[in-house]
Order: sequence, then structure tokens, then C-alpha cells
Amino acid sequence: MTVYSGPVFDMAANQFNVIANHLEIPMEERDRLLMPKRAITVSCPIHRDDGSVAVFEGYRVQHLLTMGPTKGGTRFAPSVDIGEVAALAIWMSWKCALAGLPYGGAKGGVNVDLTTMSGRELEALSRRYMQEMIPFVGPRTDVMAPDMGTNEQVMAWFMDTYSMYQGQTVTEIVTGKPVFAGGTLGRREATGRGVAHLAKRVMDVLAIKPSGATAVIQGFGNVGSYAALGFHQFGMKVIAVSDHTGALYDSGGLDIPALMRHANKHGSIAGFSNELHFDPAQVLTLPCDVLVPAAMERVIDAKVAENLKCRILAEGANGPTTPEADLVLEKHQNDVFLIPDILCNSGGVVVSYFEWVQDLQQLFWEEEEVMRREYQILDRAFDQMLTRAKADKISHRTAAMAIGVEKVRAAKNTRGLFP
Ligand code: NAD
Repeated sequence: MTVYSGPVFDMAANQFNVIANHLEIPMEERDRLLMPKRAITVSCPIHRDDGSVAVFEGYRVQHLLTMGPTKGGTRFAPSVDIGEVAALAIWMSWKCALAGLPYGGAKGGVNVDLTTMSGRELEALSRRYMQEMIPFVGPRTDVMAPDMGTNEQVMAWFMDTYSMYQGQTVTEIVTGKPVFAGGTLGRREATGRGVAHLAKRVMDVLAIKPSGATAVIQGFGNVGSYAALGFHQFGMKVIAVSDHTGALYDSGGLDIPALMRHANKHGSIAGFSNELHFDPAQVLTLPCDVLVPAAMERVIDAKVAENLKCRILAEGANGPTTPEADLVLEKHQNDVFLIPDILCNSGGVVVSYFEWVQDLQQLFWEEEEVMRREYQILDRAFDQMLTRAKADKISHRTAAMAIGVEKVRAAKNTRGLFP
């Protein structure tokens, strides 16, 4: 019996078993590596604007504490359940280990439809969620960050709530804060910038010139919009983007800075243009050089995978590709170059780590320093993944996850089992 269930958790478990088989990890060791250390479920009551009281269910899963504190985002979305949160926490562990960060993985979330909430209600929910988590988190225990549906403002409310209870300002309790509230330069851009940087590295490997190259992006939030901006700055054409309201297509390339200004002001891409409307269901299978899923899990299933027409699949989102789709991609390995999520979107946690280090030291870096160090870590992990994939004749995902799982396993075995 386990509390963890659902398609996203099954997917994380299934992927782990593929890696464990490849690494020949004995069965008796597997649960200790896969099953989360702790899961917390809380009820978050808030006053609604109409005077009624509503209760929202919140979660936090801390996957492993072997490497240091746990680290991971907080998701506010209607899909959130304990299985999804656990899967995301597990992926964070392999991601942090691959990047060489001193963290285990965590994730949290609240099951809520933000379209039904006012700004005041969102603040109340954010503060109550953090207040409920205070006994379980801390700068040396578990450090939160943003994810889908949360942003710098929510992180500032988390930090303020925690600090009020401590009687002192504790900026290092969360990352992804505004720069003027203890955040770091370059965190807002970090994930999307990292996605664009890695896609560009692969373009160099495949001898694709940026001028004239095309990109398609699903999701135009934090990750999708900054990845788009990165491509735009490389001189590429971003020919299509989508979000929860619809899709836009322009074969000549969308005006990304203008679209970002519009989305920041209005909360979505809706209303940007009447002429450029496109069917969102067809976005993932458009012909392009770089495809970036940057929204939800499990959007690339076996059927979509068979129909992909991109040269590079850069996974900005966590878990966008199902294991069945992975089998299809492995069959056509030479057609699509996969940059797996735990590498591709790891720029976010890498710069979150820099934010935590700067907060602990109260010594802040220039943005160039942040970017230089981010790319250094991404490049190292990319090179390790490629070398491993070639040496073992395995997929990029298997290689990236194998490196992460191996590091966690080595740390656990060296520390031993208490008592
Ligand atoms: P966000 O809330 O800023 O943006 C999410 C975007 O996805 C929005 O544009 C939304 O409209 C769109 N979207 C939602 N449902 C959609 C649908 N059905 N079709 C098309 N678009 C849809 O979230 P984010 O922070 O950009 O995160 C996106 C993904 O990247 C998530 O999987 C998240 O876990 C992952 N990720 C985020 C970070 C980070 O630093 N923010 C880091 C690593 C991974």
C-alpha cells in the first residue's frame, strides 16, 4: 500500500525502474532510492472576498535528505495531487544530483484553480500554505521555489510569512524571490535561458545555423517566454507559441519582446493578434528545428512522438514525454535529439542554488557572474550526459538519469543506514 498514485507518479517510478535495471541495482535497494522520505498534507482555510471560508488541500513531498536540504518548487494548479507532487520531487533529486548541487528533491503544491481567485485571496492562500509548512521546512531542511502558478510575488509572501514567525528576516528560506527582497539577478530568466543555451549547443553539434532556424514553444509562462526570448536573441524565428488560452503562428517569426510585454500585462497571449490564431492541438507536431514543451506533464505521448517534426526536443517542462513516447524516440534516435527535462530545465534550480548561497553569505553577485556559472554547470552536465550515452549506447534520458541516480546511490551507501 502506498499513498502515491496516479499517472505522473507511475511515470516517475517506471523511469526509475528502467534506470535501476540498466545500473543493475538490486531489488532490495530500490525502494530506499525511489520512495519519498516525507509527505505532508495540510488544509489551508482562507476567507474569500464574499465573506465565506474556503479550504484548499496543500502538499509538500521531500524525496531524500541524503545530500543536504531538499529543494523544489511549489505548484498552484487544479491538477495537483500527492502523486504528482511526489513524482516532481523524485525528478528534482536526479536533477540536483546530475548538476552536482548539494540538495535532495522536494516539491509542493496546492490544488486550486487560480482563475477563480482574487489577488487578495491568492495572498491569503500563499501565506496560510507557508504557515502550515513552517514545522517541516527551513533553510537547512527544505527550501521552496516557484513552479507553475506561483511567481516572485508568492515567494516574497512565503519569505515574509516565515520571517514573521522567526522574528527576523530569513531570505534563504525560499528562492525565486524579487531581487529587492533577497533574490538573485538572473533567476527569473534562468530556466528559459538555460533551455535556449542547451538547444544552441545541440544546434552547434548538428551544424544548424541560428539564422533561419525555427522554434516552437508550448507554454508562454516563465520558462516558455524566456526560452523564446533566448531564441529570438540568437536570431532564430519563433514561429509558434501556445498557452492555456490558445496558440499563435507566424512563419516569419513572432515578435517575442512584444508578445512578452502583452502576456505580462494581460496574463496570457490571448488578444495579442486576431490574424495569427492557430490550432493549439497542432503546435507540438509543427515542423521546426527546436520544439520546447514548457507547460504540462505527459503532453508528448506515443502518438505525438510518432508525428514529431522537430530536430531537437528541448524539454522545458517537467515530465512532458511519457515512457511510451520515449520508446518511440529511442526507435528514431537519429531523427530527434532529446535534451531531457532533468538537464534541459535545470538552469532554474542551479540559479536557485546561487540565490540560496548568496542569501546565506549576504554577498550578492553581478548578473554576468550568475550566467557564467549557470552555463558552466549546464555545459558540464551536458557533456557528461553525451559521453555516458555514447559509451553505454543508451538514450539521453537514461544517461542523464543514470548519472543522477548513481550519485544518490553512492551517497546513501557511503553514509550507511541508520541506526
Ligand atoms: P508558468 O505558470 O509560469 O507558465 C505555465 C504556462 O503553461 C502558461 O503560459 C500557461 O498558460 C501554459 N499552459 C497551461 N496549460 C496549458 C495547456 N494545456 N496548453 C498549453 N499551455 C498551457 O509555469 P513555469 O514556471 O513556466 O513552468 C512550466 C513548466 O516548467 C512546468 O512543467 C514546471 O514544472 C517546469 N519548470 C519550471 C521551472 C521554473 O523555474 N519556473 C524550472 C524547472 C521546470
